[in-house]
Amino acid sequence: MAKKGAREIVGLICSVCKSQNYVTERNKINMEGKLSVKKYCKNCKKVQLHKETTKLK
Ligand SMILES: [Zn+2]
Repeated sequence: MAKKGAREIVGLICSVCKSQNYVTERNKINMEGKLSVKKYCKNCKKVQLHKETTKLK
């Protein structure tokens, strides 16, 4: 088992098409609120704002 710490695996979903394109680690200590990043969405074929989701596919 991996050491259980402040880190949490979250998915990043495209805010436009809702497809989950990325999985990242989130540090609960440093991060407050919802994570959102601009990343390339292969479904939309352009850079879109991605938001975190705890529901991993
Ligand atoms: Zn998209």
